[in-house]
Amino acid sequence: MKRVKVVLDFDGTLTDEARQARELKGIAQRMLAEKILKVPLKDVKRRYNRVRKAILSSPHKYHWSVNGLKATYAHEGAYLLNTSILQEVMRSDLNYLRAVMRKFPPNALDSVTLASNHLFHRGTIQVDPHFLKGAEELLVEIIKHPTIDPVILTNSETKKIEKNLKALKIGRKGTRNRFAYEIEILGDTRQYHMDPDWEQHFEHHRYGSTQILPVNEQFSIDLRRPVYHAVLKQILEEGFDEVVVVADGLSLAGALPLVMGLTFVLKKTGFTPEWCETCVREHPNGRVVNDLAELKEYLFGLVA
Ligand SMILES: [Mg+2]
Repeated sequence: MKRVKVVLDFDGTLTDEARQARELKGIAQRMLAEKILKVPLKDVKRRYNRVRKAILSSPHKYHWSVNGLKATYAHEGAYLLNTSILQEVMRSDLNYLRAVMRKFPPNALDSVTLASNHLFHRGTIQVDPHFLKGAEELLVEIIKHPTIDPVILTNSETKKIEKNLKALKIGRKGTRNRFAYEIEILGDTRQYHMDPDWEQHFEHHRYGSTQILPVNEQFSIDLRRPVYHAVLKQILEEGFDEVVVVADGLSLAGALPLVMGLTFVLKKTGFTPEWCETCVREHPNGRVVNDLAELKEYLFGLVA
């Protein structure tokens, strides 16, 4: 029987990210105003709303930038939109930027990325998980299946995923837990970690050797993601017959697996831009599913 590794994203793929992002927004605005910028909350809120409008009216112009490269477009997901807006707010005033740099001196990542990561991790841990319909059933079924080996791979921290999965009575593999089912978690995987000096190129079925995946005149995806690449290579070395990556975002999670020849399944959300869906549908190893029921059907079809 075919052995399949299923690499599952968490936020937005298994959870109702739009709902959670609404909660996160208030928490992050307050932390940014009070703890980092030390300015009135209403100033941050005003700028936040202005930037949000600008992004949604010209989404190709706004991205989450890491080390000077585009990690993802701002409108590809609810959390990403929030993070991108917060970054634009930090850059919107020289005094804001100075406060961010003082609090988060740059290391392998720039100060604005470090600050927005801090807001994301500290904020999302306070947000209650809202799992999508069918998430528990999907996880339990793929955990139980004898030839499917699931792993949750995410930019979020392992401890958040572990905490949220408790609501479904699923434990983290390799830890002492009281649950009947457990799953491997690869947290803080940094799909957004971009490196302009990384020289790896990829063979594209249409464009040849490249570091950029062109999508259309407005959108393209930079593939210089050494951290995510290393994790995927390690998974490939486990020797499964097929590796399937499932996520709700294309730039962050999907583009690299696609060019590496893995199967990528885009799980749509209310935020999925049309260009992402078209790009995945047109790729020979891409698939699009509308919900977790369709995803389950697809995964079980692979091992039938
Ligand atoms: Mg996601």
